[in-house]
Amino acid sequence: MGYVFTCSIDDGHPSDVRLADLLGRYALPATFYFPVANIEGAPVMPEAQMRAIARDFEVGSHTLDHCFLSRLGQREAAFQIARGKQALEQILGQAVQGFCYPGGAYRSGHLALVRDAGFAYARTTHNLFLGAGRDRYEMPTTCQFYPHRRDVYLRNFVRGGHWLERLPGLAIAVRQQDWQRRLYLLLDAAQRRGGVFHLWMHALDIDRLQAWPQLSDFLAYAASCTPKSARLSNGELAQRSFSL
Ligand SMILES: [Zn+2]
Repeated sequence: MGYVFTCSIDDGHPSDVRLADLLGRYALPATFYFPVANIEGAPVMPEAQMRAIARDFEVGSHTLDHCFLSRLGQREAAFQIARGKQALEQILGQAVQGFCYPGGAYRSGHLALVRDAGFAYARTTHNLFLGAGRDRYEMPTTCQFYPHRRDVYLRNFVRGGHWLERLPGLAIAVRQQDWQRRLYLLLDAAQRRGGVFHLWMHALDIDRLQAWPQLSDFLAYAASCTPKSARLSNGELAQRSFSL
């Protein structure tokens, strides 16, 4: 398939609008995963803003209420998955193909619920991948725009499996102490290997870290070394990788 850049933004925070503007400036695609409400208390943008973002970007579902599926019974989980899709489709007036597991928390039984609800693919929070993964209902990421410490990456690597595939990403993450420098090196590695660089983030984190200038610099760099044909939404990447 060759090198691909893709990007995910989770939670539908009002600051997603700023993120959409920034991505638009660099002509980079992204998939925004919206819950309809957030039981954890974080604000979710008004419906008109959701529709505005959906005009320029792919929008996926993040359950109805941002519920961690692993904490729910099977019926509740099925409701959150299916109702989140229906409600979002009503708001947007268009079909929603992608799903993202809140908190990256799910069990293997949830994959079938996501499929049965009519989603074409689902994204996880698995990290350090430089490819699209093997299952369209468990699409991994490369890294989060967040200052994780090296030991967090190491622990996550051990717990997350797929070690052979993730080893090159881990080597970069533990070798480089500066968390932002790591992003550049992972992007370079994806390019060199003809793999996938999948960045994910929360706009709320960028606000809290006051990292908007740094994010802008990184996106400018990504745009400078990613040809237009290699810029894909999560849905386009799923389509190419799993021939949907
Ligand atoms: Zn989330």
